[in-house]
Amino acid sequence: MLFENSIVGPIHSRRLGSSLGVNLLPLKHKYCSYDCIYCECGWNRESENQEMVYATPDELKGLLKKRLEQLKAESARVDSFTFAGNGEPTLYPHFAEMVGVVREMRDKYYPEAVTTLLTNATQLKRKEIFDAVMKLDNPVLKLDAGTERMRQLINKNNEMGCTWEELLANLIAFGNKGIIQTLLFDGQSGGEKVSNIMPEEFEPYIGHLKKINPRYVMLYALDRATPEKELRKLSVDELEKYAQVIRKEGIEVKVYG
Ligand code: SF4
Repeated sequence: MLFENSIVGPIHSRRLGSSLGVNLLPLKHKYCSYDCIYCECGWNRESENQEMVYATPDELKGLLKKRLEQLKAESARVDSFTFAGNGEPTLYPHFAEMVGVVREMRDKYYPEAVTTLLTNATQLKRKEIFDAVMKLDNPVLKLDAGTERMRQLINKNNEMGCTWEELLANLIAFGNKGIIQTLLFDGQSGGEKVSNIMPEEFEPYIGHLKKINPRYVMLYALDRATPEKELRKLSVDELEKYAQVIRKEGIEVKVYG
C-alpha cells in the first residue's frame, strides 16, 4: 500500500494512537535503503525507473498547516506527528529542515502531541541526520535481526544503507533516547528459512539490545499483506513469550499484536 498524499490522516495506529502522517517521499512509489520482505509498500523494484519528484519543505509546510487548521476546526485529536510513508523518511533531501518545520507546527497547533519517526536507522551514519533525529520525541529505530546474515535476508540492505557495524554502533550511540522496533515472525523466502525468533538469531539480538539499552522495545506482528507470501504472523501470546525473555534483562518491552 503506497501513500498518495504527503499529509496522511490522522489514522488510528496500534502503537501511536491518533497519528498524523508526514510522508516526505515521492507519492505513489517507494524509496528505501532496505527492501524488507514484509514491507507494506511492496518491493523496491516495483518503483524502479520512477521520477523522484519531492515536495519542497515550503510546500509540505503549507499542506501541513492547512490540514492542521482543518483538524483544529473539527476539534480532532492528534497524539503524534509521525514521519512515515513511502519508504525511508530520512532519505528525503531536506529531512533536517522538516524536523524543524514539524516541531514548529506541533508547538503551535498540538503542543501536547509527540513527534515520532519510524526509521530503519541506516541514515544515522550521516551526522546531520543523527542530530536531527535526536531532536524528535520518539525516534523509533528498526532492528529485526541478531546477525548480519539475517538482516540481509529480512531487510535486504542496499547501497544507500549502512554496514551492520555502523548500524549497531549508531543504535548504541542513540542509547536510551531511542525506541527499538522489531517485527517478529518466521517463514521462508526464496527457499531459505527466514526467522528472527530462532535461538541463533534471538540470542544475539538480545545481546545487541543489552548494549543499546533503549528506552523500550516495541515488539509487533505482521499486520497487512506482505510482498513475501510465506511469512507466519505470530500470535500475541508468542510475542509476549519473547517479550518476557527481553524483560528478564531489565529492558522494557511493549507488545503490539
Ligand atoms: S525499512 Fe520500512 S519502508 Fe523500507 S523496506 Fe523496510 S518496511 Fe519498507
